Amino acid sequence: MSKTYKIAVLPGDGIGPEIIDQGIKVLNAVSKRFGVNFEFTKALIGGAAIDVEGVPLPDSTLELAKNSDAVFMGSIGDWKYDKLDPAIRPECGLLKIRKELNLFANLRPVVVYDELAASSTLKEDVVKGVDIMMVRELTSGLYFGEPKGIELRNGEKVGFNTMIYKESEIERIVRLAFDIAMKRRKKLCSVDKANVLDVSRLWREVVERVAKDYPEVELSHIYVDNAAMQLVRNPKQYDVMVMENMFGDILSDEASMLTGSLGMLASASLTDKGPALYEPSHGSAPDIKGQDKANPIATIMSAAMMLKYSFNLDKEANAMEEAIKQVLKEGYRTADIMSEGASLVGTNKMGDLVSEKIVCNILN
Ligand code: NAD
Repeated sequence: MSKTYKIAVLPGDGIGPEIIDQGIKVLNAVSKRFGVNFEFTKALIGGAAIDVEGVPLPDSTLELAKNSDAVFMGSIGDWKYDKLDPAIRPECGLLKIRKELNLFANLRPVVVYDELAASSTLKEDVVKGVDIMMVRELTSGLYFGEPKGIELRNGEKVGFNTMIYKESEIERIVRLAFDIAMKRRKKLCSVDKANVLDVSRLWREVVERVAKDYPEVELSHIYVDNAAMQLVRNPKQYDVMVMENMFGDILSDEASMLTGSLGMLASASLTDKGPALYEPSHGSAPDIKGQDKANPIATIMSAAMMLKYSFNLDKEANAMEEAIKQVLKEGYRTADIMSEGASLVGTNKMGDLVSEKIVCNILN
């Protein structure tokens, strides 16, 4: 009897439930085609949890997440909660689950499909063929370093934060980035600011040390300011990029815009033990909620990442990615990626089309 993968499903708010339904639909198609078993258990997070339980991450949701093989999430937040105390807003649910599951690595694939290259704000020949994996450290660095604060010094206020990394924190994210590079085109670029920051000099030292265990991977280093420039000048030169928390926050948003639409961007947040979390990079899009307009592709691609990184089901994940490519090639588009001559479809239909491709491809 084959293994059953237990998936905690947290649809969240706004378009979350609609796009998650498409993800589940496609995973059921994978089940049908490849005979793998998934068990889905839904729970509340974000505003949906506040409405029912008064908190953005109920204990029962966290318990379910911890006891699952992976967490599959939609999106969190709605304008109607903007007036709540910041400490109990929907977003706190997301921050808390990331912390509780010790999700120290954020992966964002930036893939420009040929069919959509024209929707980027950059020239088509610059972005066509881009396929980068951005790997960002998520639980340390400038956003969490101590000391931090605002205080009076010599009669005026000063504000300060600390960018701090332990060798072990650098090593675990860098090792993960090397492992990912080994599964791809075997190129890794480490981003730092070693010409100015001591913490970056340690970062570079650890990267060089870990690199000895990965002789097949071609390693390069780049200063963060140059990386920001190169990403819009010649993004095709990159395969995997790894960086500390704040550098990653900024550069992964910059890189994501190469693709032209938020609705295409998947993400995974990984840990070294316990379940990882998979969600689209975009928010809950309250402006199009419940209108069958949301693009579910980022969510479906996040589900494909779950199969690849949590379950080692590479063949099944590739089938999902291939199905998306075929549907786009046949000219189907949701409104956010619509172009002249293409066929406009809604959220639900896009999910159906990708699922049908997965099942039909048995014959190919
Ligand atoms: P957003 O990403 O929700 O939306 C920005 C724009 O992109 C909107 O016009 C929206 O319609 C569009 N868009 C987003 N995803 C789309 C999709 N799949 N298909 C088609 N169009 C899509 O960002 P926002 O409007 O700034 O934030 C809305 C809410 O989402 C806020 O409450 C915010 O805090 C929250 N948020 C949550 C997450 C998360 O859950 N990880 C991330 C970002 C923002």
